[in-house]
Amino acid sequence: MDFDFTPEQMAMRKHMRDFAEREIAPKAAANDRACKFDWEIAKKIFAEGFLGCPVPEKYGGLGMDYVAYGLMTEEVNRVCSSTRTLFSVQTSLVALTILKWGTEAQKMELLPKLCNGEYIGCYGLTEPEAGSDAGNQQTKAVKDGSDYLLSGQKTWISCGSIATHALVFATVDSKLGHKGITCFIVDTKSKGFSAQPIHGKLGLRASDTSSLFLDSVRVPAANMLGQVGDGFKVAMSALDNGRFSVAAGAVGLVQGCIDACTTYAMQRITFGKPIGEHQQVQAMIADMVADCEAGRLLYLRAAHLKNKGVRNTLETSLAKLFAGEAANRAGHNAVQIYGGYGYSDEYPVERYFRDAKVLNIYEGTREIQRLIIAQDALGIRNANGQSSGRMTALAGTANEPQLASV
Ligand SMILES: Cc1cc2nc3c(=O)[nH]c(=O)nc-3n(C[C@H](O)[C@H](O)[C@H](O)COP(=O)(O)OP(=O)(O)OC[C@H]3O[C@@H](n4cnc5c(N)ncnc54)[C@H](O)[C@@H]3O)c2cc1C
Repeated sequence: MDFDFTPEQMAMRKHMRDFAEREIAPKAAANDRACKFDWEIAKKIFAEGFLGCPVPEKYGGLGMDYVAYGLMTEEVNRVCSSTRTLFSVQTSLVALTILKWGTEAQKMELLPKLCNGEYIGCYGLTEPEAGSDAGNQQTKAVKDGSDYLLSGQKTWISCGSIATHALVFATVDSKLGHKGITCFIVDTKSKGFSAQPIHGKLGLRASDTSSLFLDSVRVPAANMLGQVGDGFKVAMSALDNGRFSVAAGAVGLVQGCIDACTTYAMQRITFGKPIGEHQQVQAMIADMVADCEAGRLLYLRAAHLKNKGVRNTLETSLAKLFAGEAANRAGHNAVQIYGGYGYSDEYPVERYFRDAKVLNIYEGTREIQRLIIAQDALGIRNANGQSSGRMTALAGTANEPQLASV
């Protein structure tokens, strides 16, 4: 693994940092307070082509590698987790999944428009009774001529109310378990499709999160992503990319805490000196820096494997678990370093603290990541008789992500 970034990767990182500082950071607190998805920021992101970062140029993307994509994701989350969620969903969960599983016709039709923001995607896996246990999909897909009729409910779907297209996972036969799950690309304007925003969230308040309702939504068989019964594999491969961007985002949140705290700690005076000169405050900052560096190395290792086309389920889970936990530690300590001021939205650290929590809930809770990691360490096969493939990943031979749960 090369520890040096290429000039292109460094340029992309700087470009994104400048953009985030200029366009996202100044509005992040107000959007959070107003619980507002900011279309003005989104349109500027679309115009820059950022959403297509790791998508090949042939399909309208920037054709960058996963290191550059991770660094960019980190820079966005350094100032705003809600905006980073747009990247995780649009780029990682939707575009890269279509890139991997789509037919040439689906890729040519959808990817350029997902890269330029003309289309917005969402990823509809979670249901009221199927979160961690994603194989328990209750949404039904019933064949009707050359179409399928989709009925059911999805919940906690990021970008659900703003999406033009939803990846919807449904079962063609619940008796088949995860082998009956099939993925469909659903036009959200279809008759019988509706979305309802979820209000009152702890964090990610400037990100849309919605429930989706499908009432006999007619979807042509040509809109299937993969084959009948491939849906579970499609979902899990999407999460390998989604978790990667969550891990990179979490490192960005830690970096945001470091930046805020190192500034504040040298300004705030107690007992006649800056609080940054008190050793207990220094210890909190040191822990954040160590967490940040370790989390960055973990997601960059996953990026390195992705660039090689090598299976990286385990490495991505390690990065997501560690960075998600690190972000929670950093958010917690950042508020502590700010003292009473940290408890107010006058400063960004309370937002970082609240935004950190979702990092060990979505795209597989921290318990599910631990389960994946422990099963691998113990050599235990999961509920579907699959291993997470540590040996194959390290040997660099396999490339098929498959895990039992989100
Ligand atoms: C803001 C937000 C955005 C989201 N965006 C999306 C999205 O875009 N698309 C999407 O499909 N989903 C999305 N989700 C849903 C998210 O992925 C689920 O909430 C998550 O997978 C957990 O599922 P659950 O909420 O049903 O919790 P449950 O599965 O009911 O879990 C509850 C608790 O039990 C633990 N648990 C469950 N099973 C086990 C086990 N086997 N071993 C140990 N512990 C276990 C969990 O870790 C958790 O602590 C989002 C969620 C949030 C909060």
